[in-house]
Amino acid sequence: MSDTIITKPTLVVNCGSSSIKYALISEDNQHRITGLAENLGLDDAHIVHKSLDGTKTDVHIPGANHKAALVKIMELLGDQSPIAVGHRVVHGGREFSTAEKVTPHVIEEVKRLKALAPLHNPANATGIEAVQAIHPDLPQVVVFDTAFHQTMPPKAFRYAIPKEMYETDFIRRYGFHGTSHAYLSERASKLTKAEGPHGWLVAHLGNGSSATAVYNGESLDTSMGLTPLEGLMMGTRCGDVDPSLHIHLKRTLGLNLEEIDTILNKESGLLGVSGVSNDMRTVEAIANNDSHPHQKDAQLAVEMFCYRAGKYLASLSCALPDLTGIVFSGGIGENSATIRTRILDVMRHFDVEIDSSKNDALFGGGEGSFHTENSRYELWVIPTDEEFQIAQETRKVLGL
Ligand code: AMP
Repeated sequence: MSDTIITKPTLVVNCGSSSIKYALISEDNQHRITGLAENLGLDDAHIVHKSLDGTKTDVHIPGANHKAALVKIMELLGDQSPIAVGHRVVHGGREFSTAEKVTPHVIEEVKRLKALAPLHNPANATGIEAVQAIHPDLPQVVVFDTAFHQTMPPKAFRYAIPKEMYETDFIRRYGFHGTSHAYLSERASKLTKAEGPHGWLVAHLGNGSSATAVYNGESLDTSMGLTPLEGLMMGTRCGDVDPSLHIHLKRTLGLNLEEIDTILNKESGLLGVSGVSNDMRTVEAIANNDSHPHQKDAQLAVEMFCYRAGKYLASLSCALPDLTGIVFSGGIGENSATIRTRILDVMRHFDVEIDSSKNDALFGGGEGSFHTENSRYELWVIPTDEEFQIAQETRKVLGL
């Protein structure tokens, strides 16, 4: 047991259908216990728990469901009991524009929004109810991935389809990765010396990728839409395609909607174009390998990824009254100086100047700027920290 006492320990929980990712975070973000429960419901269910001093333990919990896993997680936290729990919830629909304290109404809404996030919201609700069953007095908060984007104006969030579909069926753009974009834009505004209000183009580039225009702390437009499929090219997701693609594939190949949905979400993006991998590191390595049969496909996949990211960022600048700079984050944005450079090359009319040595030095969790003094706009790499953001919003909602 460690002697370190975590101040105002807040447990952040991210429930998937068969997994729970968790982090117990101190108020000052200096101390963290983390872990991942996987394969829930199966014989090989287990928790990999990382304690304060970094020691990892693998605990087997055969057949455990979400509730049993959370009981074990609480046990593993030992005397560092949380004062509150913050849940990451993917979809908050139109109703939730901020984090909310858990009430029976909030749980009902999270479940009802299943229609918009069928894979995620039910799992999120399971986690909330499991914690409630174990510790009925522990305050809980839900932090929605969509909430940060509720400041988008109608011209950005509406689709040009009949208005009844918006009014009756809530078909509109919601945006995702909101917790990350909120953290990154807030952090950039703390780091910059520029006078506010600040306008940021934030690129969260990972296996899932999105870009957001943030002005004075508010999301004004973002690349993801009704679902996280719209927008940039991603690891396995196609991003923007012609909306008539579905009907075309049905007519010409006889595919049904489920099959098309699987192709566009799971078999497209870097994986679909390269034909080898959804992982940027692998695709980049193959693109540089003269003897690899998929070299040309991998080169095109990287080129398309960068072109589309640059094109999206440039177009999102239209949402900003003023531009302070561009922020890169996510596994790709934080680690690849080459991809950052290539995206900024696409945005060549934007008068930015890269300091190459600073750019090359930013990877593996490094945070900093990489523009020169002559650059018209600032360039930043900021490692995202959604867990800290959720812990912070949880304490704020509860007044802790
Ligand atoms: P995330 O979903 O944010 O964890 O990001 C995962 C993506 O980041 C994968 O495509 C990884 O290949 C990519 N990534 C991680 N490190 C690097 C790197 N050094 N260069 C390029 N891509 C990277």
